[in-house]
Amino acid sequence: MAAGGEEKILVSVRVRPLNEKEETRNDRCDWECINDTTIICKFHNLPDKSSYTFDKVFGFECPTKQVYDDGAKEVALCVLSGINSSIFAYGQTSSGKTYTMSGITEYAMDDIFAYIDKHKQERKFTLKFSAMEIYNEAVRDLLCEDSNTPLRLLDDPERGTVVEKLREETLTDRNHLEELLSICETQRKIGETSLNEASSRSHQILRLTIESSNREFSPESSATLAASVCFIDLAGSERASQTLSAGSRLKEGCHINRSLLTLGTVIRKLSKGKNGHIPYRDSKLTRILQNSLGGNARTAIICTMSPARSHLEQSRNTLLFASCAK
Ligand code: ADP
Ligand code: MG
Repeated sequence: MAAGGEEKILVSVRVRPLNEKEETRNDRCDWECINDTTIICKFHNLPDKSSYTFDKVFGFECPTKQVYDDGAKEVALCVLSGINSSIFAYGQTSSGKTYTMSGITEYAMDDIFAYIDKHKQERKFTLKFSAMEIYNEAVRDLLCEDSNTPLRLLDDPERGTVVEKLREETLTDRNHLEELLSICETQRKIGETSLNEASSRSHQILRLTIESSNREFSPESSATLAASVCFIDLAGSERASQTLSAGSRLKEGCHINRSLLTLGTVIRKLSKGKNGHIPYRDSKLTRILQNSLGGNARTAIICTMSPARSHLEQSRNTLLFASCAK
């Protein structure tokens, strides 16, 4: 965010390699990362611009560790200083959102656990983990085996929007977290098969809350710090396009539109530093994330895209979204 001395959103773009399917059909690679901040379209007949600049651009030779180090780490680790933060993966289906976000989550957890290990003599840390999925504007608990009952959102005067009955596990150690992450993955897969490719239509939010306080009282640093970091694997961005909201998919299209479009509006307004009304309340996703977006919170967005000619239109939409966010 530009205004009020607040930090702006960290926006980066990651281009994945051509996949086998694209290779076999001789799809052309349309994009070139000319340096670590600029990507250009080599297909020169574009009606508008063909060069885009972001905080970071990661080409297909870039490992996820580098995407984490340069595109997410600084924001994710704010949680250790008591600052809320959120890391998003945005992009069309099969562009690499889940691949990127699951790697980033692991690296962030490594760093967080290493930090805690180093400081646990002087500070007491409490870690809580929760996970949810938003599908058709219904919120589902990913840590709960019987997760078919949608959860309600409540307004708490102190904590803001709260997801009622969402399971929140107090973490004992890193292994405990790995167990929970694998439960989430299983729950998400179950949803996928029964709802047919639901992952392209649903948003996944993993949230880690850290509270810490000094073991010994000291006047300078006696305060308790508490903050959350959210890792969000968004629904496929093609679900926000107008074409899908027609015909038989109207309901799904509408709802996905609602969360993704609202997120887009919220992020655009925040990035312009507008003081006016920010429509957090227009979707479940933005209501849940309100405390992790805007205000003092830090945000990083990693936009993923395919380099293939056949995906040119969607890739340009993704870059337009990314341009609006910076
Ligand atoms: P999305 O979640 O956006 O639908 P995925 O993360 O599932 O996409 O990625 C689609 C496929 O491409 C997966 O098989 C994944 O392993 C692969 N993939 C994605 N990004 C990369 C990358 N940067 N390098 C190598 N393979 C990738
Ligand atoms: Mg995915």
